[in-house]
Amino acid sequence: MDRRVVVLGSCSVCHVFASPNLPNRGETVIGDDYHIVVGGKGSGQAIVACRLGSEVFMLEHLGDDAYGRREKESYREMGIHTEYVYLDKDCPTGTGGIFLDAQGQNKIIIVPGANSNVSCRDIDNMREVLQGAKILGTQFEVPAATVDYAIRTADGMGVRTLLDPAPVTAFDESLYPHISIIKPNECEAAELTGIRVEDTDSAARAGKWFLDKGVKEAAIITLGEKGAVLVTRQGVKHFPGLTVKAVDTGGAGDTFAGALLAALSRDWPLEKSIRYAQCASAICVTRTGSYSMTRQEEVDRLFAE
Ligand code: ADP
Repeated sequence: MDRRVVVLGSCSVCHVFASPNLPNRGETVIGDDYHIVVGGKGSGQAIVACRLGSEVFMLEHLGDDAYGRREKESYREMGIHTEYVYLDKDCPTGTGGIFLDAQGQNKIIIVPGANSNVSCRDIDNMREVLQGAKILGTQFEVPAATVDYAIRTADGMGVRTLLDPAPVTAFDESLYPHISIIKPNECEAAELTGIRVEDTDSAARAGKWFLDKGVKEAAIITLGEKGAVLVTRQGVKHFPGLTVKAVDTGGAGDTFAGALLAALSRDWPLEKSIRYAQCASAICVTRTGSYSMTRQEEVDRLFAE
């Protein structure tokens, strides 16, 4: 109850096919590798927050298929509350087909499937749970109208809100004053603000743009290995990235967001929470298959150094 986090978001099962060359139109080629990656910003952030000690309620729609049922069960096993994880009969679990060639070029098809079904009514159905939360975390891989409604509802209840505006999606600017903290990476910040973000100074200008639009507490612009810039009405602070040997930076932003939710659910101040999120994401980039491997002892140890 004390460290409750609600995550509204997505889950997608990506099928990755590798072959020396991508097929041309109408062509069939023989591949040399295949694997499945279960992702989605919502599930990634929820898993990280749960692993780092929050009491997480997930709001998500999955298909009533083998992938959806397995994912819901794995949430349950790791301790995420699944009362609001719905298995939809009429829709598949969100799915991606990723086709990779030997040069690392890709073609991707994403089918949002059940992720498109997350509705405002779902938010109303969990009002009581939301009311008792420390923070709501969400992103734009589910319908923007639902994200908008969730943020306004939480804010109306006095619950803090964290928006990871990814992938960048058009939304009504009147939402900004209901967002407590916005956490774009440099590309997302640039796309939303029109400011070219390439260093800490331009990140600070972009952060200020969000505050001028009404964001309540803070903009946190993440800059990959260069770290993150925090902009509040008190000023700007740069948090340099931790020096690690990165092998896979996929999932860094989601690990950062999940860890930030976990830290904020402990009522930690923003600066301390950002340092904690940096530790979690620095560990994430040192290995592949990152989210599920985030371990609290490990993050706590790095944080204590
Ligand atoms: P996204 O995955 O959304 O593009 P970023 O790449 O900006 O997000 O990474 C988010 C955070 O993860 C950064 O602010 C930083 O703390 C950490 N991080 C990312 N890449 C590295 C890296 N190579 N070394 C250390 N920390 C990293």
